[in-house]
Amino acid sequence: SAVMEKILRQKSLRLQNQQKDWQESPEGQKMLEFRRSLPAFKEKDALLKAIAENQVIVVSGETGCGKTTQLPQYILESEIEASRGAACSIICTQPRRISAMSVSERVAAERGEKLGESVGYKVRLEGMKGRDTRLLFCTTGVLLRRLLVDRDLKGVSHVIIDEIHERGMNEDFLLIVLKELLRRRPELRLILMSATLNAELFSSYFGGAPTIHIPGFTYPVRVHFLENILEMTGYRLTPYNQIDDYGQEKKWKMQKQAQAFRKRKSEIASTVEDALEAANFKGYSLRTQESLSCWCPDSIGFNLIEHVLCHIVRKERPGAVLVFMTGWDDINSLKDQLQSHPLLGDPSRVLLLACHGSMASSEQRLIFDKPEEGVRKIVLATNMAETSITINDVVFVVDCGKAKETSYDALNNTPCLLPSWISKAAARQRRGRAGRVQPGECYHLYPRCVHDAFADYQLPELLRTPLQSLCLQIKTLQLGSISEFLARALQPPEPLSVQNAVEYLKTIGALDENENLTVLGRNLSMLPVEPKLGKMLILGAIFNCLDPIMTIVAGLSVKDPFLMPFDKKDLAESAKAQFASHDYSDHLALVRAYEGWKDAESQQAGYEYCWRNFLSAQTLRAIDSLKKQFFWLLKDIGLVDQNAENCNTWSHDEHLIRAVFCSGLFPGICSVVNKDKTIALKTMEDGQVLLYSNSVNAAVPRIPFPWLVFNEKVKVNSVFLRDSTGVSDSVLLLFGGKVSRGGLDGHLKMLGGYLEFFMKPQLAETYLSLKKELEELIQR
Ligand code: ADP
Ligand code: MG
Repeated sequence: SAVMEKILRQKSLRLQNQQKDWQESPEGQKMLEFRRSLPAFKEKDALLKAIAENQVIVVSGETGCGKTTQLPQYILESEIEASRGAACSIICTQPRRISAMSVSERVAAERGEKLGESVGYKVRLEGMKGRDTRLLFCTTGVLLRRLLVDRDLKGVSHVIIDEIHERGMNEDFLLIVLKELLRRRPELRLILMSATLNAELFSSYFGGAPTIHIPGFTYPVRVHFLENILEMTGYRLTPYNQIDDYGQEKKWKMQKQAQAFRKRKSEIASTVEDALEAANFKGYSLRTQESLSCWCPDSIGFNLIEHVLCHIVRKERPGAVLVFMTGWDDINSLKDQLQSHPLLGDPSRVLLLACHGSMASSEQRLIFDKPEEGVRKIVLATNMAETSITINDVVFVVDCGKAKETSYDALNNTPCLLPSWISKAAARQRRGRAGRVQPGECYHLYPRCVHDAFADYQLPELLRTPLQSLCLQIKTLQLGSISEFLARALQPPEPLSVQNAVEYLKTIGALDENENLTVLGRNLSMLPVEPKLGKMLILGAIFNCLDPIMTIVAGLSVKDPFLMPFDKKDLAESAKAQFASHDYSDHLALVRAYEGWKDAESQQAGYEYCWRNFLSAQTLRAIDSLKKQFFWLLKDIGLVDQNAENCNTWSHDEHLIRAVFCSGLFPGICSVVNKDKTIALKTMEDGQVLLYSNSVNAAVPRIPFPWLVFNEKVKVNSVFLRDSTGVSDSVLLLFGGKVSRGGLDGHLKMLGGYLEFFMKPQLAETYLSLKKELEELIQR
């Protein structure tokens, strides 16, 4: 209406004036000067023109050139200048919470505003945005959830998907949805931003959308591979460079040797000699990706890294060192090792820091600080430092060539977490981090031929993770048949993975036989946790034991609050065991630990309590706040009485809790057979399985329960179960299986299969009579 239009015009005018005032102020001028020095600025006009003329564009450029902080801002500024400020709405997605939060903070500062005015952010269960927020940074998951209630993204003028090269599952999913939506909303603009140069792939997915490259200003980086490194640092390598002449027999022999070597050094090859040996095997005999994985140890030797670091500290010019490691375990153990080194552990010479995703943000900030004169900064990082964060003073990069990545074994329906070789694109990215301020050096701790056999790009997440949550989302968004929808992806997943996920959702009763969403499925899709955890929340509400269940679900979706320091593992394990005496449950241990902490907190003794019991106060606080959010959400959905004040009246009955676990975690179940000295555990899919050593059930001589339910299994070398709880036969009989439209019958059929498999005839008999009784009951 006319009135609305007038208000809009006034708002736009106000935005225009505010922007102008800021840009003309002294601080604003200084900020503009900095922003104009970024490479993205030179392309500003070309970018805005391309956006105006095309529905989709792809933008690529080196990390740090100004894509994330500048491009969304250019759009906002130009809309405001054109007096459309109040009418535009720009959404920019980030793959990680931490970047959505920090980038929005930076952009608000660059505009001379407080967060929540024209710039805001929104991540799961948290956010800072106002009524007049025009530029919103959010996680991809948040945008997907918005699509649930707003299929057409009404009012949104621009969608920007950042870090698209990472090929996260959510991003790939979003692309399928947006491709459809663009047809319905011709005025909507889509901008894809990528760090590396696989822009073509995205461009062709959108029918040849134009791509714009922002040239960066990086300095040349000198590259060393293992062969030069060894010579440089005083070691010699004699390669098998004529493998083809060796003949089959010899080749086979070497393969056997390599396998034996792999067995011996499964996780970390710990001496330079080992690395050399490994390099000997790897060296010059590799042609394909396949042979790569069969020939190499999981991780290159720590001592080699130590050796290279000593070389840099002693002999090289000043400049920070960035070391890419596989994961946070390795980072911690390497840090421990280096700290006891006479040179590298000397704080007057070396500032040793770690950088990984699960670190506190105050600790994270340290890595950006300049060290004192004469002190060399060494940062041990995960692949997080490849693109999402930029440490400006890095001159030397040490790259171990591996990253822990989740993969998914569709045949056994098991997720795996293994260190695997990075891609050529990732290696290039790691190398590039060395040349930001001056010419740099990169030490790749693997031979050149190994590098040449790397895949060009990493496999997209969609092809290496279980698809359960995604499939549920497809159904909730009413996007039609799951398999047909996923077939339209940039790189569609294997049909077997899709089938497994659909089967799982049917098993837990989220989908019915015809792949339609059940009531349970609809409720699950509204909870921002994995389907099985969501199911536990719902059952906790129904069975009136929500408080302890929320503690567990929050714990499982934040992270484990039990700390396991490398050097005090025994003490930490026995501290954890105290919380589980006679319970045989990691989940109940978590509840006890949390409740003990709440008590201690109320007496101002929380810190001491955590210290004594090897608990992370930070994680416990995160659990606490997540619980509040769950409670709120469950009220919102209507599963909890609107008037319920808190959860104190809820039952903490241990048997009830076990029952809810069993129902939520089924078919995550394994049978327990206590032998003389050992306990044999078996699942239907994997056969023999093991428990993680930090499980309370791993240390006991026997488990007086016939079954364990578990929430996660991971294939490392064997299949390991994480966090388990003992349950009895009767609990399994009554609560295992599914309750869906197939009703009791489906539930019993499923369970029947399990009992048969584990050959428990007595139980099967009980189950048959129970089934009959229940059927009669239902008839009545
Ligand atoms: P890209 O997305 O292309 O990797 P960004 O837009 O994130 O680049 O960053 C561009 C530049 O802005 C960086 O090189 C850095 O100098 C600067 N910058 C980014 N974030 C911050 C921050 N929080 N504080 C100070 N400077 C920053
Ligand atoms: Mg960026």
